[in-house]
Formats: sequence, structure tokens, C-alpha cells
Amino acid sequence: MNKKPRLVILGGGFAGLRLLYRLHRKFDITLVDPRSESLAKPMLPEVAFSGKPISHTRFPLAPIARRSGSHFVHASAVAVDPSSKSVRLSSGDSMNYDFLVIATGAVKDYGAIEGLEEFGYSVCDDLHAPRLFETISSFRGGPIVTGAALSTWGSKVAAPQLKAPCEGPIGEVIFMIHHEMASRNTPHTITAFTPGEVFFEDVGDSVHQALNPMLQTVGVEVLTQKVVTQVHKDAVKFADGTEIEAALAIVIPPYVGPKVVSDSGLGDEMGFLPVNEQMQSLEHENIFGAGDATALSMPKLGHIAVHQADIVAAGLRRAVGEDVAVPHYRPEIFCIMNQGGTDATLILSDVLFGGSRDIAKRGSIAHLMKWSFDSWSYHTRGHLPPDLLQEALEFALK
Ligand SMILES: Cc1cc2nc3c(=O)[nH]c(=O)nc-3n(C[C@H](O)[C@H](O)[C@H](O)COP(=O)(O)OP(=O)(O)OC[C@H]3O[C@@H](n4cnc5c(N)ncnc54)[C@H](O)[C@@H]3O)c2cc1C
Repeated sequence: MNKKPRLVILGGGFAGLRLLYRLHRKFDITLVDPRSESLAKPMLPEVAFSGKPISHTRFPLAPIARRSGSHFVHASAVAVDPSSKSVRLSSGDSMNYDFLVIATGAVKDYGAIEGLEEFGYSVCDDLHAPRLFETISSFRGGPIVTGAALSTWGSKVAAPQLKAPCEGPIGEVIFMIHHEMASRNTPHTITAFTPGEVFFEDVGDSVHQALNPMLQTVGVEVLTQKVVTQVHKDAVKFADGTEIEAALAIVIPPYVGPKVVSDSGLGDEMGFLPVNEQMQSLEHENIFGAGDATALSMPKLGHIAVHQADIVAAGLRRAVGEDVAVPHYRPEIFCIMNQGGTDATLILSDVLFGGSRDIAKRGSIAHLMKWSFDSWSYHTRGHLPPDLLQEALEFALK
């Protein structure tokens, strides 16, 4: 019997798990991750503002690998050597691959904003979101300031150069914290800042026209072209010399590329992996990338990470001789922004990529969709609902 080709996947997030589920029958897969549990980041605002248990946002990786006949290595990849096709791990071990997928996500550079770790809050991981929940639980009111820091990007691929990689969570912060404060009759003001020329710079006019009245209704003041530099005990400071009083500052830090990519000399100027639209490294044909770790992924969204993983999966199946079509790279913004209670807005837009779809739909159906998506993903250990539709279709056609 022919041995299966060795596929090493770095990272068990949205992209890495999608690949594992798509390819485990065809490849001898080793999944490498320094976390023992996958973390569903889109659920973190609910942890921070609605008290969702943090345990509902993560699930263990080792059993997923075991059940699919794959291997799980609980370690960080620290260096990739394309010439020997090997990956060095934090444990000191090395492993060889026939194909490598880098799906390590992006690094949130909290240290780049002075005072953020000490005085500020974030919703980006499973340490910061519960910490924010604790603070909000006893928050007695005052000015709340929230926004994303300026991120900068490399120049090796033609991806949109957004000032902020993902402002959807800031939208959730605004609406969910307002909902919480209003329901507790806690006096507050909300100021949102963006480094971009417009808040939500990745969508078009129709979505802005839908979102702006919603922002006005909750009384939020939106400041554009504001580059946060420091978070103090009671203020947020900006590069233009201004500052805003803040009893609570919630900031998304700048994103930078994963260290393993830059340390291996595989990254662009900001350490992201440059890939073509087949998600293949520009320099090494056996190395692929998917998700936030890649320079092409812009904005940094789980929806785009999964689309990229599907392209990688098809490309790898072709590489081992299967006659499958590789999907074209067609990124779009698709996200559901929770707004407190059972309210949410679904946003679908591809104008950033030259398309014409630019839709925002508000209502409890959108909330139900997000709840269904999150629940499905949690209970099926990282499968996504389209899998169900696809499998139902395949079952019906059998
Ligand atoms: C608060 C918040 C809300 C969001 N909401 C949405 C939303 O509603 N919709 C949406 O589409 N997107 C949303 N996003 C964005 C989405 O979470 C990311 O785009 C998505 O997680 C990227 O998937 P990924 O697989 O590329 O990376 P990740 O999900 O970050 O996974 C990367 C994995 O790689 C591992 N890893 C890191 N370094 C190494 C290493 N050296 N070696 C091996 N493994 C490593 C990590 O431990 C992690 O498990 C949100 C993000 C945040 C922060």
C-alpha cells in the first residue's frame, strides 16, 4: 500500500481545523499547536459582555486529531527549513513534511500600545475577554473608549491595505456594552475611534448607511483617523497629541505576523506569509498558508480563513494526483455582529474586492444564525455549518 504524503499543519484554529477535516483521509496529518484547545474568537465578545462561560469557546485538539487518524503535537513551531522540508518545535524535536500549511493566525501585539496591558482591556483572547467581564460586572459607569490600533502591512502581495484588520469586534463592543449598561441603568458615554478614514473601512456605502443610524441610536461618538499610542489609567492618547478621558478603554492591538514565519525568513516586511491566490508560498511550492497568518488575508476574518483553507485543501488534493477543481479566490466580508440581547446585524460585502454585494440585515434572525453557527461549531468540534449542507446534498445525491 502506498504511504500517505505527510502533511504538517501549524495551528488548530479556523483554517487548520478546516484543513484537517478536509484532508485526513488523504494525508498523514500532524497538527501542531502550542494550545491544547482550539479557541473560537468570534464568541469572545459574548464572554466579555454576556458572561458566556469561556469553556464554551474552546475545545480540545488532541481528540480531534486522534479520531481522524491524525497526530497532535502540543508545541510551538519555532522554525521552518524549506530546504530539508522540516519544522523545528519548541520541544526541541523536529519533524519532516511533504507539505506544510502555516495556519498560525496573527499575533496581537499588545506591547505596541504603551499601558494597554496594564490599564486597558481587549476581547481578542481567552485571557482578556474574561478579565473584561470581571471589570464590567463591577463597572459603575463613566466614559468608555474603544477602537482598533493601526496595523501596517507588507508589500509582497496585492491585498487591501486596511488600517485596522478587523473592526467587527469593535462594533460588538459598542452595541453589547451599551446594551449591558442601559439594562443596568449605568450612566456612560461611548467614544469609538478608528485609524481609518471611515469606521468599518472594509464595507461599502450601503452597509455604512445601515450602520450609521444604529451607532447614532446608541449615542456613540465616532472619531476617524485616530491612531492610538497609549492607554493610561483614565485616558487614551493618540498620535496627533489628543487624548480622551476613559474610565474603561477597550482596544484591539496591532496585528503582526507569526514569529515562526519571520524567524524562518518566510515573511514579508510585517512577518506575514506572502502567498498567491492558490494560497501557495511565493517561494516554496510545498508550503501553503491559510488564514490570518497570510499576507493575502485581509481583512483578518474567520470566514476568509476558511475560504483560503478550502483552496489549500483542493490544491493539495490536486498535488497528490486527484482530479479536483481548485476554487477561485473570492474573498468577501461575512460576519454577524451581536448587539446585545437577541439583536444582531448580518453583514455581507464584497465591494472591497470589486464586487457589488453590500448588505446589512438587522434582527433576531441574524442573532439566531450566529448562535446556530457558534453552537454547531462548538458541538461538532470545529466543523462549520456548510459542511452539514454539503454532506446532506451528497447524501441526497447518493
Ligand atoms: C473578538 C474577535 C471577534 C471576531 N469575530 C469574527 C466574526 O464574527 N467573524 C469572522 O469571520 N471572524 C471574526 N474574527 C476573526 C477570526 O477570529 C480570525 O480571523 C480567525 O480566528 C483566523 O483563523 P486562523 O485559523 O487563521 O487563526 P486562529 O484562529 O488565530 O488560529 C491559529 C492557531 O495557531 C496556533 N499557533 C500560533 N502560533 C503557532 C506556532 N508557532 N506553531 C503552531 N501553532 C501556532 C494558535 O495557538 C491557534 O490555535 C474575530 C476575531 C476576534 C479577535
